[in-house]
Amino acid sequence: MPNLLVVEDDAAIGSVLESTLRLHGYQVCWRRDGRTALQAAETGDFDLVLLDLGLPDLDGVEVCRRLRSALPSTVLVILTARQEEMDVVVGLDAGADDYLTKPIRLGELLARVRAHLRRGAPAGARPPVTVGALTVDIAGRRATLGGHEVVLRAKEFDLLARLAEQPGVAVSRETLMSEVWDAHWYGSTKTLDVHIAAVRRKLAACGAPHGTEVPRIATLRGHGYRLEDPARTVAEG
Ligand code: CA
Repeated sequence: MPNLLVVEDDAAIGSVLESTLRLHGYQVCWRRDGRTALQAAETGDFDLVLLDLGLPDLDGVEVCRRLRSALPSTVLVILTARQEEMDVVVGLDAGADDYLTKPIRLGELLARVRAHLRRGAPAGARPPVTVGALTVDIAGRRATLGGHEVVLRAKEFDLLARLAEQPGVAVSRETLMSEVWDAHWYGSTKTLDVHIAAVRRKLAACGAPHGTEVPRIATLRGHGYRLEDPARTVAEG
């Protein structure tokens, strides 16, 4: 279970973050000021830190610097109400990996946390994902259908891997864009549709043995995409 350190002095925001993250399967250590956060960092082993920059005792950027040196391989995400670019730049210079501006949208926060932890996990530790006749080997960056390799471009592979991680689950366009393309991406999602079309085409034309069921990527209008899970479809009859 990934272990998260949340540093937030606002009780309302902190408790929402704590309960939401716990609900999504994370272990959470919540600290309300810089000093106790740094103490926690000295003794704890954290996968990711969510750090509010406006803390009551210490300067948030200084806390960020010290957390970075105490936890060199931990993902550091800054939470800030200050939208000025300078703050962001200073925050990133202080060793942060990412930032989110307040008010925090929980869906976006969870997507970012998931994306960071996935990138941080050693690829070799991840077993291949199987959905029907499709196997997606994330460590080897190889997709096969009925044992036959599906040749995909980098982003096409990332997209299929993301959908295959949660077969039968609707994944929003925003989630796909932010996790597959860029965490700070805002704008047109046309490129997503183009890539989905390419993945569908390549799955259908990969030369899998006759009778192999080609996995279906369903379009959910106004929402996103879902990789159909043949096992679930059969079970639900
Ligand atoms: Ca604050």
